[in-house]
Amino acid sequence: MNDTEKIGCCGAYRKTCREFEKTCKGCKPGYLDGSRDLSRAKCRMKKCCLTKGHITCADCEKYDRCEIMQFFLNHPGYKYSKYKQALEFIRAHDYSAFMKAAENWKNAYGKYPEQDN
Ligand code: SF4
Ligand code: SF4
Repeated sequence: MNDTEKIGCCGAYRKTCREFEKTCKGCKPGYLDGSRDLSRAKCRMKKCCLTKGHITCADCEKYDRCEIMQFFLNHPGYKYSKYKQALEFIRAHDYSAFMKAAENWKNAYGKYPEQDN
């Protein structure tokens, strides 16, 4: 798995996934080598994001106005605000800065070396 495969399209890091919390294979692994079929994925964000060839939705020019994405990120709940923070951190910096920040996270989100408010 390359490093950015650990980041879900929605900004969730490695461990969690809204759609497959119990049986999750991770957001991305398996699509490039053909062991999973993207057309059967249930998550609209993932389908859209990977079909467009993005690493995450942070790469998308429609990010700010995408209803699917903004609906997801604006769910009530702390974790959604952290997924949003992840995508916005990637947009403000880059994937290598994000991977460095996330290196020791045990969960789907965590602390950043610097906080952009
Ligand atoms: S984009 Fe969808 S499949 Fe991927 S981690 Fe987020 S909720 Fe799960
Ligand atoms: S259109 Fe929305 S769901 Fe699709 S890649 Fe862009 S931000 Fe993600």
